[in-house]
Amino acid sequence: MENRLARSAARNPWATFGVACAAPLIALLLRVPLAGILEDKAPHITFFLATAVAATYGGVGPGLVATVLGALAGAYLVVRPYGSLRMNNTADYIGFVLFLGIGGFISYLVGRLIDAERHENALRLLFQQTLVSVGDGLISTDTEKRIRLMNPVAEQLTGWTEAEAKGRLVDEVFRIVRENTDTPVEVPVDRILKTGLVQGLANHTELIGRSGERIPIDDSGAPIRDIAGRVAGAVLVFRNIADRRRAEIELEAAERRARTVLESVSDGFLLIDPGWRIAEMNAAAEKMMNIPASSLIGKSHWEAFPGTLGTPLEAAYRKAVADNVPVHLENYYEPWGRWFDVSACPSTEGLAIYLRDITEKKRADAALQRLNEDLKQFTFAATHDIREPLRMITAYVQLLQRKLGDRVDPEMAEYVGYAVSGAHRIGRLIDGLLEFTRVGDIGEAALTRVDTEGALSDALDALQMALHDERGEISREALPSVFGEPVRIVQLFQNLIGNALKYRRSGVLPKVHVSARREGTHWIFSIEDNGIGIAPEHQGHIFIPFKRLHGSEIAGTGIGLATCKRIVERHGGRIWLTSKVGQGSTFYFSLPAAEEASFAAQ
Ligand code: ADP
Repeated sequence: MENRLARSAARNPWATFGVACAAPLIALLLRVPLAGILEDKAPHITFFLATAVAATYGGVGPGLVATVLGALAGAYLVVRPYGSLRMNNTADYIGFVLFLGIGGFISYLVGRLIDAERHENALRLLFQQTLVSVGDGLISTDTEKRIRLMNPVAEQLTGWTEAEAKGRLVDEVFRIVRENTDTPVEVPVDRILKTGLVQGLANHTELIGRSGERIPIDDSGAPIRDIAGRVAGAVLVFRNIADRRRAEIELEAAERRARTVLESVSDGFLLIDPGWRIAEMNAAAEKMMNIPASSLIGKSHWEAFPGTLGTPLEAAYRKAVADNVPVHLENYYEPWGRWFDVSACPSTEGLAIYLRDITEKKRADAALQRLNEDLKQFTFAATHDIREPLRMITAYVQLLQRKLGDRVDPEMAEYVGYAVSGAHRIGRLIDGLLEFTRVGDIGEAALTRVDTEGALSDALDALQMALHDERGEISREALPSVFGEPVRIVQLFQNLIGNALKYRRSGVLPKVHVSARREGTHWIFSIEDNGIGIAPEHQGHIFIPFKRLHGSEIAGTGIGLATCKRIVERHGGRIWLTSKVGQGSTFYFSLPAAEEASFAAQ
């Protein structure tokens, strides 16, 4: 390649041979005025000049051509007899041959010199082009640490031109500091010159440009050796890594943020890589397991927690990964005797696992369940034991009432009447209490898809008498299907519509409107009436068992709304109301939508 460049730098052959022909001609013309001084002596003297000129201009070939032409021209025109190549004496022949020999030699020597120079120029050009083309900054120094050359990228990064920097100490031009500080970093030239080894630069180094700007750089340096292998200087190679550094800093910040989030959550977190090895875990997980992260990270999850093998947890993790779906379960970890609420979300990074220790909650739940069970047993037993003597009281008081007939004075009859209605009321309270207790029993198995259109119709059938007596008017919109226990949902409608009819305004026929709207995973039902309404200060109390806002003028036990609340909450919903005194109330409750719930009307 260098030869090719050298040759390409050679001159046009026509021009070189033109010069080779013209030079002897000029030499001949120059010889003419010299003839007066030199006469026949040194006939080729000016032709040496022609040979030198032709060889200098065009190399060996043109030099030889000029030599031959000069020799012939000299023999023909300068050496006697003129106009003939013949020569009068041997000395002339020797001169002729000597001229050819010396001319040839001059041509060869000058040609070689010219070729060597061109070759060197081409190499220098190539070297310069290489320096210019290198995308990195490059500074080379001598053994005194003085700058010998620098390429344009180095000029641009340092802010110094090569001409200005040449001869200066490298530390003056190449000023480097630790990132975001003014702490100088040693330029590795000293070490390179001392050790003769390649040196890298510490990470996070900034170059201070001539005008003070800071550029993050990556750098390395190497010794320059002479032909004898001695260290003759050093070369520094450096590049602007501002973009890379910015990306690194952003990445570091993102990682820090992610870590802060992970460390701040109270849930334990584990990241399992696709090979089931533990890749990450947060402080909460460490604390929860009482094992340092360092002894778990990199370990296989199954090795670290052998107690999970063959359990529903293993099945859930494998399912999450195989189907690429998140899973959630409560799991009892036998070796530690603890319960965990576990969520596992698959991602390209592996399986992210969130753990919450719910052992205490589980214990409390179990205790509460036992307490509830005891309370239920107690209620059943107590109500059963009360019901029997109550039935006797009711029966005997009614008997007494009948026997006395009209014989007693009205005051006495009134007292007996109170006793009868009181006994009935206790009976109703016991029924309500039993009903309220039973609502707590809704089990998973009893839950099914419930068509609330049908549930509402069943409730209205049960309320037929009240509807007839109160001349109530019911309007309804299309209702959806929900997920629940059918009997309880009928009871819900029955209690709420029953109240809407019962708490009517005097002189106003009761009107009730039933509708539903979708909100996320739930349906929100509303039962709107035009009754007496409930004052805001009472609205918060009416869901408490036995809480009533009325006396005996309106029959009731105060257990209806408490039962409704229990039913809705056992279905994972909630119940609330809006109301205006003297205008009416709207009771709302939410129930989970059945999978394919849709409006019957659609
Ligand atoms: P009960 O109807 O047996 O008294 P509830 O628990 O059903 O018991 O109702 C509690 C109280 O809430 C009632 O006593 C009544 O004062 C009030 N209430 C319930 N529903 C309505 C309604 N639709 N309009 C006005 N007041 C109501």
